[in-house]
Amino acid sequence: MKAFKKYLAMILGAAMIFTLAACGGGADNSAETDDSSDSEAQVLRVVTEATFAPFESTDEDTGEIIGFDPDMMAAIAEDQGLTLEWINMEFDSLIPAVNSNQGDIICAGMNKLAGDRAQMADFGDTYFESDLMLLVKSDSDLSGIDAVTSDMKLASQIGTTGGDMVQEMKEEGKIADSVVLNQWTDCYLQLQNGEVQGVIVDKPVGEAYLKSHGDIAKFAGESFGDHEEFAFAVKKGNTELLDKLNAGLANIKASGKYEELVDKWFS
Ligand code: GLN
Repeated sequence: MKAFKKYLAMILGAAMIFTLAACGGGADNSAETDDSSDSEAQVLRVVTEATFAPFESTDEDTGEIIGFDPDMMAAIAEDQGLTLEWINMEFDSLIPAVNSNQGDIICAGMNKLAGDRAQMADFGDTYFESDLMLLVKSDSDLSGIDAVTSDMKLASQIGTTGGDMVQEMKEEGKIADSVVLNQWTDCYLQLQNGEVQGVIVDKPVGEAYLKSHGDIAKFAGESFGDHEEFAFAVKKGNTELLDKLNAGLANIKASGKYEELVDKWFS
């Protein structure tokens, strides 16, 4: 009889342990589910490439990412009750980052119309428009992109519309070499050091560079390439977050905050 009671106690004990474990697991999963589905509870990671002033650059003193994009996204976040943090990475890592959950939002002066980007991520409403320009040294006699000759080298940033263009020009034999680098600041140095004869860059970014380097560089000719529409982007299917970002953008445009930031960074 004693043996039976002992056996029964073992069975009941095992059953209780199993029941507690099952309930405990559910609670943990539900906690994860709650957190992962509510964008207002999360700190959302904005991924960018911060050598693209005045859209984003790194403050030399604080190391903080500053620019039009951080200010615009801060205004959108305040309007929509979101909390953001910024992560700096190479431009051609941005779309893979949101698709591998290494980031939640791309905000990087990214042209939503370029290539297959719209198939790779979900882009929001346009927040800025731009075209490409050719930056040359101030003593260059290049009249524009159509005057570039096959002995020349052009630089731009890897993974960008400018980077794609210089690589196409190399493949078509229009230039001797394409120099595609991870940071715009390195592209400018290549120009300053005479390593390349031109840099293909977005017009508002080139204008910001010329504000501080107008003595050594200038634009050659008119804008060219496909007209660009910059937009933030999220992982394919994350419509809840994208709807919030679009609503916030519409609200800061309606309130005048957007225009105030354009004046701050582009006047
Ligand atoms: N507007 C260009 C693009 O979308 C460059 C963007 C950037 O360098 N941040 O490719």
